[in-house]
Amino acid sequence: MRIRFLGVRGSCPVSGKNFRKYGGNTTAILINSEDTSLIIDAGTGITNLEERENFRENVVFLFTHYHLDHVLGLPFAFLLYTQGYRRKMYGPDFGKFSMNDALDLLSNPRLLPFKVSRKMLETQILPLKEDFTEGGFRILSLYSRNHPLDGIILYRIESRGKSVGIATDYELGDDREKVVEFFRGVDLLVHDAQYTPEEYEGKRGYGHSTEIMAAEVAKDSQAGKLLLFHFDPFHRDHVVDEQEKRAREIFPETAAAREGMELEI
Ligand SMILES: [Zn+2]
Ligand SMILES: [Zn+2]
Repeated sequence: MRIRFLGVRGSCPVSGKNFRKYGGNTTAILINSEDTSLIIDAGTGITNLEERENFRENVVFLFTHYHLDHVLGLPFAFLLYTQGYRRKMYGPDFGKFSMNDALDLLSNPRLLPFKVSRKMLETQILPLKEDFTEGGFRILSLYSRNHPLDGIILYRIESRGKSVGIATDYELGDDREKVVEFFRGVDLLVHDAQYTPEEYEGKRGYGHSTEIMAAEVAKDSQAGKLLLFHFDPFHRDHVVDEQEKRAREIFPETAAAREGMELEI
């Protein structure tokens, strides 16, 4: 699988000289297999995709939850409005709130001048399952309630004997053992590191982890590599540098994800 980080920021997009190294666009990740382009979340990072690129004929959107930083780019994703792709969208149902409700909210005419679901070309919107295959991927999902309001979906994506775990907007907590088991032996773990340990003290229950928590999950689950992810919009590059350094003391195979970073696993 080939993974590209389109946006690694949490909460809201930022720009300027203090954010050049890691980038300011919010959460979006592209994973390509031979015939499928999987896009996990559609924050503003999705605008990094360009029409001239070669996408696979199957385009699958996968959502972790519907907070604004994970859907804000969706109305501007040209893949929704371009012929020649088979499109599917998988999003969790949180009680009675579904992917369709999220699309409707996002398209409120007071907030956006067009209705996404009306403008987009044929797209299958499907409820998320716990374990399913799509294109060359096996997709496993795990629900955690450790993110406000409705919780969060963690993903484990496997293809040709390789695996990547994604835990964005997750606060390590009482379901730690279950989560570590879910990510057991992944080649790559992408984990929320929104806060430094000092900040975390005042932000318990906000639904995010520290770089130390991310490193502990990577270590306990025996991941091959850890990428810190979903950085606080107030964290300038030097703060993320320090987070990376601290996490490496616990789990040496750690790096901070950067916008535009590509890797093959
Ligand atoms: Zn977020
Ligand atoms: Zn969130």
